[in-house]
Amino acid sequence: MKNIVILGAGISGLATAHWLHRQNIDFTILEAGNEPGGSIKTVKENGYTIDFGPNSGLETSPFIRELVSQVGLDDEMVYANETSNKRYILKNDELMPLPMSAGSFFKSALFSVPGKLRLLKEPFVGRSLDGYNQSIAEFVERRLGREFLDYAIDPFVSGVFAGDAEKLSVKSAFPKLYRLEEVYGGLVKGMVKGAKERKEAKKRNEESKQSAKMFSFKSGMGILPKTIVEQFPDRIIYGCRVTNVKKENGKFSITYEKQGSLHELKSDILHSTLPAHIAAKVFTDFDLNLGEHFTDVYHPPVKVLFAAYKKSSIKVPLDGFGFLIPSKEKKIFLGAIWSSVIFENRAPSNQAGFTIFIGGARNSDIFRRFGNDLEQKVLGEFQRIMKIDVDPVFTSSRMWEKAIPQYNLGYNLHEDYFTKIELENPGLVLSGNYRGGISIGDCFKNSKPAAERILNLI
Ligand SMILES: Cc1cc2nc3c(=O)[nH]c(=O)nc-3n(C[C@H](O)[C@H](O)[C@H](O)COP(=O)(O)OP(=O)(O)OC[C@H]3O[C@@H](n4cnc5c(N)ncnc54)[C@H](O)[C@@H]3O)c2cc1C
Repeated sequence: MKNIVILGAGISGLATAHWLHRQNIDFTILEAGNEPGGSIKTVKENGYTIDFGPNSGLETSPFIRELVSQVGLDDEMVYANETSNKRYILKNDELMPLPMSAGSFFKSALFSVPGKLRLLKEPFVGRSLDGYNQSIAEFVERRLGREFLDYAIDPFVSGVFAGDAEKLSVKSAFPKLYRLEEVYGGLVKGMVKGAKERKEAKKRNEESKQSAKMFSFKSGMGILPKTIVEQFPDRIIYGCRVTNVKKENGKFSITYEKQGSLHELKSDILHSTLPAHIAAKVFTDFDLNLGEHFTDVYHPPVKVLFAAYKKSSIKVPLDGFGFLIPSKEKKIFLGAIWSSVIFENRAPSNQAGFTIFIGGARNSDIFRRFGNDLEQKVLGEFQRIMKIDVDPVFTSSRMWEKAIPQYNLGYNLHEDYFTKIELENPGLVLSGNYRGGISIGDCFKNSKPAAERILNLI
């Protein structure tokens, strides 16, 4: 039997480990932290359940439910309240519902009449002539017009990637959108002609991000990694920071630091799910170019601020998922999720708990500009938008210095290199949120093929 080492106990590493465990395959996981989950970070404080990382996932892949059932979490899994289908966008300091259907779009006050009419031109816009070396902003402005970019796509991009629409590559960050144009000649044409492709996806029980159900767990997202690990507690070594990977005599030689001393482990198969900014240091000796490709992946800082208020002091109706702020509105935060509206038991019953996102690629210098005053200033803006005239009854925050990898322009060169290095080094399986999507759903979707590749190598 070949021995297998997995680097990182975030959801990418743990989901792959789970599929291997189901096949009675043994492995060792090296994890720098003292608990599993990585970006999934649920904290219980003073009666609040706070998810400082992902608040939820979209059930885009059947592997999610499969794993949840296999680890016995069916009764814990919860879906978002129906109310939270409604999403708001800030425009001129007012929260306006984002139209979710063609009918409501044409009635919506979020877009002007010329902005709406511009959408009708979409079927007549030709294909890109530049090989899609285009940002999502260029792509959307070309096909759907500036207003749709400003008030739908720009805030959406900051909601998902904490990203900058002018920099994210349409081909790498939004591959389905890019394919609609590349394969079918446009978005409307793609939606009509792509029915066959969607049927095929349905057969595989895959859901598009638009129609997938939003899930979490009664006690927050953190229970998922904790429960996966309970199946193989002895297979994880916590508190060990991998510092270097080399190849020696056909084996991977992994150096890690634990309690101040360095250790070495050899493996035949190495599955790295380390974040790209960490892999940048770890894989430099292995292959200098690989180290450079990892280094080039930008991860902006994001601060997550949880704030709770008495329901009686909130003057806007709490009937949605939350709101996103377009760059054009020039606010100092990105948006807020109405956490206690979406899932039960996030805050005491007479209060509402909100998760506010600050920074990201668009606003990465905000921390330096506002220093210690930032939280107060953000709460001031948030309260004006939400028509709240009192201070929160509770706040708690967490800083992510390097939050989410940005699939920026030129990312295809990184993707190609990751594939090339794997082909040149059988036994090396690279995954994590820098490859194939950043969402929890994408990490799950990628975990089974990763496990299958490992099984084929044994
Ligand atoms: C603030 C925030 C909000 C988000 N919101 C959502 C959301 O609502 N919905 C959604 O679908 N996605 C969301 N995401 C994205 C999603 O959570 C992540 O992309 C996903 O969890 C990444 O999982 P991963 O296992 O690939 O990486 P990680 O979770 O980063 O796991 C990597 C693991 O490697 C470990 N590690 C690091 N360095 C070393 C080392 N040197 N040696 C050993 N181990 C090491 C880390 O401790 C960690 O456990 C959010 C992310 C953030 C940061």
